[in-house]
Amino acid sequence: MTPAGKLSLGCIADDYTGASDLANTLTRCGLRTVQTIGVPADDLDLPDVDAVVVSLKSRSIDAGLAVSRSRSAEKWLRGRGARHVLFKICSTFDSTDAGNIGPVMDALRADSGETIVLVTPAFPETGRTVYQGNLFVGSVPLNESPLKDHPLNPMHDSNLVRVLARQSRTTVGLVALADIAGGADAVRARLADLSGKGFGAVIADAVFERDLETIGAVALDHRVSVGASGLGLGLARALVASRLVKSDTSDAISDSPVGGPAACLAGSCSQATLQQIANAEAVMPVLHLDPDQAVAGKGEARRALAWARERLKDGPVLIASSSTPDEVAALQARQGRDAAGHAIEQAMADIAEGLVQSGVRRLVVAGGETSGAVVDRLQIPGFLVGAEIAAGVPVLRAVGASAGEMLLALKSGNFGGPKFFSDALKLMR
Ligand code: ADP
Repeated sequence: MTPAGKLSLGCIADDYTGASDLANTLTRCGLRTVQTIGVPADDLDLPDVDAVVVSLKSRSIDAGLAVSRSRSAEKWLRGRGARHVLFKICSTFDSTDAGNIGPVMDALRADSGETIVLVTPAFPETGRTVYQGNLFVGSVPLNESPLKDHPLNPMHDSNLVRVLARQSRTTVGLVALADIAGGADAVRARLADLSGKGFGAVIADAVFERDLETIGAVALDHRVSVGASGLGLGLARALVASRLVKSDTSDAISDSPVGGPAACLAGSCSQATLQQIANAEAVMPVLHLDPDQAVAGKGEARRALAWARERLKDGPVLIASSSTPDEVAALQARQGRDAAGHAIEQAMADIAEGLVQSGVRRLVVAGGETSGAVVDRLQIPGFLVGAEIAAGVPVLRAVGASAGEMLLALKSGNFGGPKFFSDALKLMR
């Protein structure tokens, strides 16, 4: 057990969705985890958690900026007692010869005084495996996968030892599957050997989850590692196995009810969300916004809020802008695609803000962009990740929000079963 308040694991994620994926993975493995939006303020009041995932948007920005933001995130995490920091990257190693994986790794290595960094993007559950340093996406090497045509980071080389060497100032080696299969001590011996020869980083092969568990156990001897959610899983399992987490206190804190009025917002127009809205009609009042009016001005959001305020005392309500593909196309033709999307997102953010001012403390939001707009508007600095409502959609408890205690569920359009809204509210007490 770690002393109260001290983090067992600090993570810096190079994009928001990757951060949520990692936070969800750590939570499923038994770590109490908070995901923050950006580097938190020094005085952010955190519950007693095992891990914090700081979400940055640093994957495709200038390398110098990615380095400085990652450095401040690391400083914050170390300040909260994190001994080990995982730099979370994409499982397809999205980067260019200019970075940003190599430059950020070099900076974190230097700042933490680490000699050799374990690096692996493997995540077998999603088909990402590494063998002889080559990354496979399903059954094909990275450079034959759709990533070869990625608009920002086209990946033309599947050999990650070469890819990382081009981005880093240090010499990059390989810990091959034969060493990993030999267990943690074999990996430690190989790392000591490579470190003695001046290597500063290694790509670690991993094909099965047990390989990630071995790598995770060894990585904990070090100050920094680089990997995707798969390495997060390896680190989390190693922490749980060494009893370095506070799992025995989790239920008491994360399950305490928040109460208060509940509301749902839907801005996704996906098939799944349209079906979920239709099913919600049977169990709660549903208001369908007039999308043209929502684009035209603030009046539609005010109308929705007045409608909601009359009903919130009697139970949850749902407000949806969602419409069918034909109607969406027609609105976009009239208003322009980006303008329509942005205006509706802002109307949803206005409604969310008004609902919270009216006392709503449990809020379900459907739609990725819609959720982003709502969270930004509510200025929520972070979330404690809770029980899973549907695959990949956990209950989130706001941390440091000005509105105080609050539960949210944020789902991207296609996620969740047909009764998602009532499923979510059942878990959000
Ligand atoms: P998803 O997760 O399904 O992609 P998003 O919220 O990310 O959902 O994206 C949906 C986009 O569609 C948002 O920009 C939203 O504002 C916009 N939108 C919502 N309702 C409508 C509508 N009726 N017509 C056109 N666009 C809409």
